[in-house]
Amino acid sequence: MVVNKRFYTVILSAIVLAGFVATSLIGYFVAKDSLTERLEQEMLPLTSDNIYSEIQRDLLQPLLISSLMANDVFVFDWVNDGEQDASKMTSYLAQIQKKYNTITAFFVSDSSLNYYHPTGVIKRVSRSNPDDSWYFTAKDSPHPYVINIDRDTADHKRLSIFVNYRIEDKSGKFIGVIGVGLSLQTVVELIENYQKRYGREIYFVNRQGEVMLQSSHYHSELHLQNKSGLDKAFLKVLTSPSASFSFKANNGSMLYLNSRLVPEFDWYLIVEQVNDPSSERIETAFMINLAVALVISAIVLFLAHVAVRGYHDKLETMATQDKLTGVTSRQVFEFYFKQAVARRKRRDEALSLVLIDIDLFKQVNDTYGHEAGDRVLSRVAQLIKSHVREEDVVCRWGGEEFLLLLSGCNMQHARDITELIRSAVAGLQFHFSNQVVHITVSAGVAEMHNDETLGQVVERADHHLYAAKRAGRNCIRPDTDEA
Ligand code: GH3
Ligand code: MG
Ligand code: MG
Repeated sequence: MVVNKRFYTVILSAIVLAGFVATSLIGYFVAKDSLTERLEQEMLPLTSDNIYSEIQRDLLQPLLISSLMANDVFVFDWVNDGEQDASKMTSYLAQIQKKYNTITAFFVSDSSLNYYHPTGVIKRVSRSNPDDSWYFTAKDSPHPYVINIDRDTADHKRLSIFVNYRIEDKSGKFIGVIGVGLSLQTVVELIENYQKRYGREIYFVNRQGEVMLQSSHYHSELHLQNKSGLDKAFLKVLTSPSASFSFKANNGSMLYLNSRLVPEFDWYLIVEQVNDPSSERIETAFMINLAVALVISAIVLFLAHVAVRGYHDKLETMATQDKLTGVTSRQVFEFYFKQAVARRKRRDEALSLVLIDIDLFKQVNDTYGHEAGDRVLSRVAQLIKSHVREEDVVCRWGGEEFLLLLSGCNMQHARDITELIRSAVAGLQFHFSNQVVHITVSAGVAEMHNDETLGQVVERADHHLYAAKRAGRNCIRPDTDEA
């Protein structure tokens, strides 16, 4: 019974706990998955989109200005006139620069290869000079313009964008390249704003994976390949127009990365988020969930335990106690008897059984009613209990028969106790139907012999009880030492 109770408590705890933990875990993983998905599929691409459209907006103005310059009649006329007065061109460029607040305005003539600048003719471009490659790229390009980005090598934050617009005359002959240079400050500010607000790293890499532009706050590797945890995945970034994935950095933190090709620059815009803050919230929520689950489990188990124990105790009492008299019931007597026998052997001491029967009890029932009989039974049981020790067993053996198990008592001692009980019962007074009623008991005492069974001792006690009845009741047998 006890083993079962423990077993069920353990099983119940396991089920309740497993249930709670499972639901918490499922919730945790679903939340985490959906967060990763949202980051990969929505949040980072959105940042990327915003920055990209900002770049396009920033590009629009210089493109427009450059296009106007490339179609300006003044430029055609001036070149046709053989680039006579350089100051005319430089002041034209100065005017553009001032009007549109650009960082520079320039013109390179294909016939003279002069580089005109608001401050004058700076130099002549040459195919052999790598610094001038932008000019020849634009010249050879099939597109009307080529965008060139130069970053200040001293300050990675500063990014200048040059629109190199090709000029062709009516017959399609290439005349030169004209355009303006602008700072992409808005984009840089946007990048820094995003970094501050969301803790997202934003930078640009070229097709080789070299970091071309990053904010001053960001200390990334200068090559995508060297990024911890990215390993070979960087190839995925550099071979697809856009990619979204997450990976674990070598320091254990999760990294979410989104890349997209910015065709105007021929660079990849990378938006990266390290250690997502919402993920920490999800973990905290998970821990709280778990703690709540533990507390609820503990409460449920405690309540279940109390209920089961109460129920169990009640059942135990019902099974082991006689309802009317409160003494031990016959069902469990054998259990106590075996314990007493074992103790008797261990301690080498005496053990006696006494069978007490109420005399002419039927008459009490018949004369004063069953309830009166019940009261007599209860009172006699109480009285017997009060005459024996706590460890002695008083059992309701039959209707009005009590069996006493007296450990450590030999025949003499048992008889003395029984005699006290007998005389005490005889001294009781009951009041039924306005009459004073007296009750007596008879008893048979038997001291346990070695290797005797319960049935055998009880039979001997019963035999002595019968003798006492025959002797006229209200007495105990044997009244002399048993042979
Ligand atoms: P004796 O002196 O020979 O023992 O006579 P007796 O009348 O006591 O013996 P008998 O065995 O004839 O009667 C016992 C009676 O006890 C019969 C039965 O109705 C009554 N009895 C048994 N259990 C209960 C009980 O729980 N309550 C009451 N009120 N009576 C009971
Ligand atoms: Mg009787
Ligand atoms: Mg009887």
